[in-house]
Amino acid sequence: MKLKILFVSTICCFLLCAPFSQAQDSCPDKRAPWINKTEVTYKIDPMPTSDLVNEAAIRSAIQRSFDRWGSVLGITFTRVNSNADINLGFFSREESPFSEEFDGNAWEHLGGSNTRGRAEVGGRIIAFDDDEVWKTQRLSNGFETVVADVFGGIAGAVNLDAVATHEIGHTLGLQHSPHSEDVMYGGGVEAYELSNTDMSRAIRVKENRTGWNCPGAWGVESFNWNKAPGLLRQVSIGDDEKVWGVNAEDAIYRWNGSGWDKINGRLKHISVGAGRSVWGVNAEDAIYRWNGSGWDKVNGRLKQISAGSDQSVWGVNAEDAIYRWNGSGWDNISGRLKQISVGSRKHIWGVNAEGVIYYRDVDENRWVSISGIRAKYVSVNDSGKVWAVDSNDKIYRRDDEGWIQVSGSLTQLSVGPDNEIWGVNSSDEIYTSNARRLK
Ligand SMILES: [Zn+2]
Repeated sequence: MKLKILFVSTICCFLLCAPFSQAQDSCPDKRAPWINKTEVTYKIDPMPTSDLVNEAAIRSAIQRSFDRWGSVLGITFTRVNSNADINLGFFSREESPFSEEFDGNAWEHLGGSNTRGRAEVGGRIIAFDDDEVWKTQRLSNGFETVVADVFGGIAGAVNLDAVATHEIGHTLGLQHSPHSEDVMYGGGVEAYELSNTDMSRAIRVKENRTGWNCPGAWGVESFNWNKAPGLLRQVSIGDDEKVWGVNAEDAIYRWNGSGWDKINGRLKHISVGAGRSVWGVNAEDAIYRWNGSGWDKVNGRLKQISAGSDQSVWGVNAEDAIYRWNGSGWDNISGRLKQISVGSRKHIWGVNAEGVIYYRDVDENRWVSISGIRAKYVSVNDSGKVWAVDSNDKIYRRDDEGWIQVSGSLTQLSVGPDNEIWGVNSSDEIYTSNARRLK
């Protein structure tokens, strides 16, 4: 039988770090067609060609891997010789069932030389890499398992229990997790026992509760927030550990290391960039720039403004039109955003009126939407680290694999250099990630 894969995007492989552009599609849900059965069959064909491995060890490792998910899902997985629900096999890179879609170059194309397995997400097919030398090995816990050396043994061996358990998770419908303790971690897995997150996500698939690939399904990452003194409505951190904020009466404050110094003037939104660069807008949308001792009025009207690490300044007006400072005035930029954040010339993010998050592709001069969450406020720093809060004040940080919810509740936040975070909650209380600054 010729195996045919319909969608390239539904194929996922082991030990692959998804590039940024693919992470946008990491949230959609697709379930295995066999997920509602209590008895599911699988077939292993062909077996590996290596003569350093015995078939009994292969069968045991793969059965153990199925049983890990089966005990969570109430599914009994049984190996058969034909007409199976799931087809597994060891294929050379040229003969991989996925190679047709990748111009005969399936393994190298996506995973490089460290790929050990590949699976159809929410599907029926798992392929293991037979160009690797699989060999039987006895683990310290007594299991006889099967291993293949990664990078010729330099990075250590990866065992078939870990690869198979991970790939079976893909066939269930799970995309990668951003957490290294999960079997479904996308950055190279040693673990083969399911984490609580792996299990809860699998149950969501089984019960067809949506969003098992979205950030909430990964649980909430514990984060250590430190309460700072004072009350602010909005806060901004720039370089050189500068933190400024405005309160509910539009009064302006600057952090002095242990408390807040009041600064002259009234602003409803403030942004701290590089050097002396501090910009703000007042209640009438007038624009002001800090000159070191006071405020210079700048032409134009903006309701929100953001200054980056390299003097890049962008803002949005009352109609959500977008403007960029050109040194003497404002250039209108296509698109509509309700709020914008500039980390540097290269790192510009924003949210529109519907909460859709965008980043600026500065090479293509266009906005690219990011799926996974909707947000009311987003912040990016000079190295591209992104945090966001949603309409329920939930906090998210972004990593290579997508959005991760972190503990706490904030209405607005600011990401500074070295990933230092400052934020305010709905009671105007101030929090920071950096306890050292509160001495
Ligand atoms: Zn994977």
